[in-house]
Amino acid sequence: MENDPSTPRLFAYPRTVHVRRHGPNGYLNYADFKPWLRDEFQFRCVYCLCRERWFPDGNEAFSIDHLQPKSVASTLVCNYDNLVYACCHDPDLTIMPGE
Ligand SMILES: [Zn+2]
Repeated sequence: MENDPSTPRLFAYPRTVHVRRHGPNGYLNYADFKPWLRDEFQFRCVYCLCRERWFPDGNEAFSIDHLQPKSVASTLVCNYDNLVYACCHDPDLTIMPGE
């Protein structure tokens, strides 16, 4: 369905894979990466592309999502490359180890 040209799209999704501009590490709590992730993803949700300024509570509506879930990839909980900035969650984009 994603490639169906008859499917209306709300936003123009980028066609290329996102290349990270930042690479902070050393934080023991993944929540500390939030300011980096806000800038990395330009204040937008990686899944639905909504901007944080569209929410009354701004960045409070956003959280950090793990591409590889914490429950199955405990070593990546604080790995910046495994973190994204999001207001929602798309289970289809969750990466399970081995995929
Ligand atoms: Zn969203």
